[in-house]
Amino acid sequence: MIARVLPLTRTRAVRGLWDYRLPEADGVGVGSLLRVSFNGRSLVAVVAEVASRSDVPEDRLVMAESVLPARLPADLVELAVWMAREYCTTPARALSVILPVGAERGLREKQVLVASLTPSGRAALDDGAQLTDGQRAAIRRLAETSPLRAADVGTELLRRLERRGLVCIEAATALRRPSRHSVSSVSAVAPALTADQEAVLTALAGHGERFLLHGVTGSGKTEVYLRAAEAVLEAGRTVIILVPEIGLTPQALARFEARFGDVVAVMHSGMSDGARHDEWQRLARGEARVCVGPRSAVFAPLEDIGLIVVDEEHESSYKHEGDPRYDARWVAEQRARVHGALLVVGSATPRPESVHGLTELRLPRRVDGRRLPAVSVLDMRGLHHPLHPEVRLALADVRRANGKAVVLLNRRGWSNFLSCADCGHVFMCPNCEVSLVLHRREAAVACHHCGHRQRVPSRCPSCGSVSLARHGAGTERLEHELSQALGGDGFQVLRLDADSVGLDARARLLERFAAAPAGVLVGTQMVAKGHDFADVSLGVVIDADQTLRFPDFRAEERTFSLITQLAGRAGRGGEGRVLVQTMAPEARCILLAARHDSDSFVAGELSRRQALGYPPFATLIRIICASPDAAAALECAAALRGLIDPPGAAVLGPAPLFALRGRSRFQLVVKAGERAAAVAACGSAVDSLAGVRAHRGVAVSVDVDPQ
Ligand code: ADP
Ligand code: ZN
Ligand code: ZN
Repeated sequence: MIARVLPLTRTRAVRGLWDYRLPEADGVGVGSLLRVSFNGRSLVAVVAEVASRSDVPEDRLVMAESVLPARLPADLVELAVWMAREYCTTPARALSVILPVGAERGLREKQVLVASLTPSGRAALDDGAQLTDGQRAAIRRLAETSPLRAADVGTELLRRLERRGLVCIEAATALRRPSRHSVSSVSAVAPALTADQEAVLTALAGHGERFLLHGVTGSGKTEVYLRAAEAVLEAGRTVIILVPEIGLTPQALARFEARFGDVVAVMHSGMSDGARHDEWQRLARGEARVCVGPRSAVFAPLEDIGLIVVDEEHESSYKHEGDPRYDARWVAEQRARVHGALLVVGSATPRPESVHGLTELRLPRRVDGRRLPAVSVLDMRGLHHPLHPEVRLALADVRRANGKAVVLLNRRGWSNFLSCADCGHVFMCPNCEVSLVLHRREAAVACHHCGHRQRVPSRCPSCGSVSLARHGAGTERLEHELSQALGGDGFQVLRLDADSVGLDARARLLERFAAAPAGVLVGTQMVAKGHDFADVSLGVVIDADQTLRFPDFRAEERTFSLITQLAGRAGRGGEGRVLVQTMAPEARCILLAARHDSDSFVAGELSRRQALGYPPFATLIRIICASPDAAAALECAAALRGLIDPPGAAVLGPAPLFALRGRSRFQLVVKAGERAAAVAACGSAVDSLAGVRAHRGVAVSVDVDPQ
């Protein structure tokens, strides 16, 4: 037997399939992992085809070294080939994000020794057999529950009993399960559906395959996913539920676990490799039939998928920022197509792309019948205090009433940048062309792009002055000021941002806020995610136009969704209000968000994008050439521009970007009406430069559908 394999190498120049003889015919098929000798190195390879004969001459055909334990379902091997084409990368690089954790080092299930009593062991206590106290206690434990892990009882002691024929010890697989997300207020009982939910579920069960569930915050979208999943499971098929980030939305996961129990598998980066591996195996074996997780869960090894849900589909975390720069929403559509599965993407602030391309279903009301909170826009022009007087009053009211508030400021750290008060020198990252941000608690300044950190400078390196000025406020400073003003007497001021590290830490912080009788949660956009706190009466957005200042055609969409999502946190279970501070009180996206009017917003966006030739009316592809040598990066970008000429597409650039991690960067943007042709043109241009000596040392990255 011959295996045609994809060697897992990062090199772009390696193309196509490579033939190897198989050591053992049994069990090897498409998706099997082999270790092979490739160009003098030992590499892992994925079997893409098996054949009975090869065109490679007999004497050059080598034997694969070994077969590794993990095996991908065949449809995921095909998906890798599709992704390579869609994202201008190689199947091997696509496989690197599809393969389960540890597959390449042959990670296996954990074997443990378990002990149980033999018939004579069971009789030993009554027989008056000679036993020490320890042995007697061990036998009693085993008589109560068995098998038990030998290590829990004492392996040495059990071995002695085994030699006397009283105990039997054998190896067993110990599944490493992720810890359950115990979230207060989650019940396993399904509520009676609202009429709106009924109508949506009826539509989902009818004709059509790809739906947008457009429902205001708190309208019961998750309940719709649960019921749709239930129906699919009953029909014997399987389910994938994508969520933006487990740590920020433990409730969604907890609701699926509570409703479906052990058939739910979870995979996310906060779990140990062992637990991820075992969850993957449970899915592959069909023991688990629902996979809940962030974007990588779109690669769950499930057969016969009947439903794929993308919750909070507007979230940018669905886009992967490494190579391949895949978009889980786009991959989900492809997987749904291949499996003939129902695709449901849900949001209160759907992307114009989804409104344009999918069948829209609505949940226009909150489940509890409460109205969405009133939103006031506060003009900050000419004010010097970071908080508007009305915000200060409203927060004081919340404090007095022992209520809760959520405050959003999309900038972490203490202040945005530091400069010398005497000569104006700005403290910049040594690797990137961006200013360093002060983090006061750690007495450090940090670059939010490359992670560079250093101690807070005590004097200016250019003039020696010791008077340094801080500009702007971040979440750390806001937390400090709110603690000073409001904290104490059980009124908690908590901060949630990327500095609160670790998924568990974030989940715990959210639980603390949920459990606290009163307090304020301050943070970056993370505080606006799908949390469901019943008792938040005030939401505040500080500097709402901050996201508008990015030179990006999605700036308005991002601003709109951030304000609407934050508003969605307020007034669940009571009256709520939202205050939005901004320097741009007339901005359309801010005014429409204040009216919760996502229809007008999306309609406006679609006509603007149609006029400008932006997605969904065109495809954008961004190519970045980066090198420590600026001239080399520019040359490479210019050479690529000369090679890319798809019909009907415009190529913009090369334009300089700010340097990052010590590398100068130039970018090309391709704007194309014909997606496939443009992607292919970019792919072949990048491939043809891959082996060219002059451009060695320039890293080229292609981003199809950049965010
Ligand atoms: P969304 O995902 O649209 O923001 P959720 O699904 O989180 O909304 O629902 C909001 C709250 O309403 C949750 O606490 C949920 O348990 C509850 N809920 C959902 N559907 C119903 C229903 N039919 N009857 C009663 N409560 C419901
Ligand atoms: Zn100075
Ligand atoms: Zn940096």
